[in-house]
Amino acid sequence: MTINERVLIAGGGPVGVVAALALVQRGFPVTVFEADDHVNDAPRAATTHPATLELLADLGLIEEVIRQGLTARTFQFRDRPSGALIAEFDHELLRQDTRFPFVVQCEQHKLARLAIARLRSAPGAEVHFSARVAGVDAGPGRVEVAVEMPGGRKKFRGAFLIGADGGRSTVRKALGIRFEGYTFPERFIVLTTRFDFESERGYCYRNYFSDPDEWANLFKVAGDDGSGLWRVVFPTRKEESDGEALGDGGVQQRLQRFFPKPAPYDIVHRNLYKAHQRVAATFRKGRVLLAGDAAHVNNPIGGLGLNCGIHDGVELAQRLAGFCGSGSGEDELDLYDRRRRPLNIEFVQSQTVGNKKRLEEKDPAVRAANFDQLRATAADPARHREFLLRASLIESVRRAALIS
Ligand SMILES: Cc1cc2nc3c(=O)[nH]c(=O)nc-3n(C[C@H](O)[C@H](O)[C@H](O)COP(=O)(O)OP(=O)(O)OC[C@H]3O[C@@H](n4cnc5c(N)ncnc54)[C@H](O)[C@@H]3O)c2cc1C
Repeated sequence: MTINERVLIAGGGPVGVVAALALVQRGFPVTVFEADDHVNDAPRAATTHPATLELLADLGLIEEVIRQGLTARTFQFRDRPSGALIAEFDHELLRQDTRFPFVVQCEQHKLARLAIARLRSAPGAEVHFSARVAGVDAGPGRVEVAVEMPGGRKKFRGAFLIGADGGRSTVRKALGIRFEGYTFPERFIVLTTRFDFESERGYCYRNYFSDPDEWANLFKVAGDDGSGLWRVVFPTRKEESDGEALGDGGVQQRLQRFFPKPAPYDIVHRNLYKAHQRVAATFRKGRVLLAGDAAHVNNPIGGLGLNCGIHDGVELAQRLAGFCGSGSGEDELDLYDRRRRPLNIEFVQSQTVGNKKRLEEKDPAVRAANFDQLRATAADPARHREFLLRASLIESVRRAALIS
């Protein structure tokens, strides 16, 4: 199918470019505007869940994502003060539910680069870097954007605009859509090291440590050269300055307190992030649709934000194809908001809030009850599978099909 309705996309992050690829494959011409002059490679998302791997397979990206990432079948919950293993979850229990009973730890900049490479050779697709969407003029049947790019400000016209321009979305603000929710007072610090926590400490590729004083997450990613990097995520103290958190002394102390070793850690990256739980009041206004972090943000515990954004992008392509190709009416566009917004609240906001509470819980009795529940869930195959269906977003995909 060839459709003459050009879709403009603000934001060349992973959601914008995956949405663009899904649209191109349905016959839409697309233009992506990315404010930066390169793909952002700061350490953010890596964990790609089974339901998302299914979508990436449909887009023809799965072999490369698996090749450039690390496959992780299990993840573990631990009690940080004692080091005890509380529960291990094994995606193998999803073998009847998915072609991909594992997660792939693939850094988000690799996914974005893969999608951009495909777009470069796709007829009708344009990707502009150093192109910041600065203004939106949405009328009936068309959208115009003002873009600041080398050579000055230019106007582009399309039939639709997707705001995939991240948490501070210019598109969302231009439309006056509220971003409801809250921001955590503490920030999240991500420290990346080559120290091999698998051979030295026996950890798997995804580990969640509960601690009333300072919770932690520990993940392995492949790194750009494939030699392996470990990312450790901690909350900062509320009163801690950026300098204290990111300075050599603070970074070494934090890691040594957690995993003491005689020599200092070699630190590859140190990054601080604000974390929020927010959802846009609507994901659609006329011919402008929001996707990814522009529509919803959440804390990263559980690795769900980008996954959900990719689901948004693929759903958007389906809805726009339905609207343009088969002549279904406005309801087809409303369905995007009707599905994606409640699913984000039910599966992403609620799980990430719950995950953070579980890791930072201070009350000893509640901690013990949480651990008992995790142990009991992991020990019962039916509950273990239910837990994974929800955590891997397979249940969210099944629920989407019931929302019409
Ligand atoms: C520490 C950390 C770990 C995480 N881990 C995971 C994980 O394991 N799994 C997971 O699913 N999620 C994870 N996330 C969340 C994930 O990083 C985000 O959900 C993801 O980046 C969202 O992608 P996006 O394309 O919507 O937005 P972004 O990645 O923010 O991309 C938006 C793009 O738009 C561009 N832009 C902004 N304004 C404009 C404009 N006006 N015009 C044009 N371009 C513009 C920006 O330059 C940027 O390139 C993590 C987040 C953090 C902070």
